[in-house]
Amino acid sequence: MPEPIRSITRRFPGTPTIEGAGVHLRRSFSNREVPLFDPFLLLDRFGSRRPEDYLAGFPWHPHRGIETVTYVLGGRVAHGDTLGNSGVIGAGDVQWMNSGSGIIHQEMPQRTDGMLTGFQLWVNLPAREKMGLPAYRGLGSDDFPNVPLEDGGSVKVVAGSFRRVEGPVRGIPVDPTYLDVQVAPGASLELPVPNGHTAFAHAVEGEGSFDGADPSPVAAGETVLFGSGGGVRYRSGDAGGRFLFVTGRPLHEPVAWYGPIVMNRPEELRTAMQELERGDFVKHRRPIVEERP
Ligand code: MN
Repeated sequence: MPEPIRSITRRFPGTPTIEGAGVHLRRSFSNREVPLFDPFLLLDRFGSRRPEDYLAGFPWHPHRGIETVTYVLGGRVAHGDTLGNSGVIGAGDVQWMNSGSGIIHQEMPQRTDGMLTGFQLWVNLPAREKMGLPAYRGLGSDDFPNVPLEDGGSVKVVAGSFRRVEGPVRGIPVDPTYLDVQVAPGASLELPVPNGHTAFAHAVEGEGSFDGADPSPVAAGETVLFGSGGGVRYRSGDAGGRFLFVTGRPLHEPVAWYGPIVMNRPEELRTAMQELERGDFVKHRRPIVEERP
């Protein structure tokens, strides 16, 4: 017998937050919500037409124990890291970065005439992989399959799969699904969720509702967490709807979190701070060409 449809159990309108060297963004969820979204730790949405809201960027900073997933919808974000990677994340591109034991990187939005808009999701690493090798994946908008929907919408598959079409990001420990879903006005769609996985959606544009115990509309900017069950069912409003749909296998491990470093035990945070002070935080590096402050 199929499991019943999942219902929305919590709604997160997002909180205006200033991060990095002064970037204005909206934070959907973060350390206060642990372990609700396990294995996901944080979702930030940046979006502004005003360069003064984002140009200060995120200068050189460390990460350990997590993966950061940057998805740019509009504008460009330049980046560089201690693995020697550098480049620009443009509209439609995704950077899926595994910090492993330690990486120092910078993420600097570039001036654009239009809107700088996008997301950063933090995905937790299992304890056994937190001190693993850092790895970096830069994917261009052309790298992702788009599955057309009957009613005219489409589903872009970043990770996991939709209707047997697999996204290019594979081999992630928590087996995530990351979809960018666009639904035509008045259309509906079912999205399966692997058994026991956490599932949430973030409304990007338009309006729609999810079937279940809380069917009231989800407005753009809102993040909703689903309870247990099978998949979810979405119906768009008159203007259509676009949302990110993310699922992953919970880790059920303790979380010790300080800023950009997320480990399991407080001692591991203290070790990380000591290593940052001493200068031996990064275990694997290639020379950085740019100057570090
Ligand atoms: Mn970062």
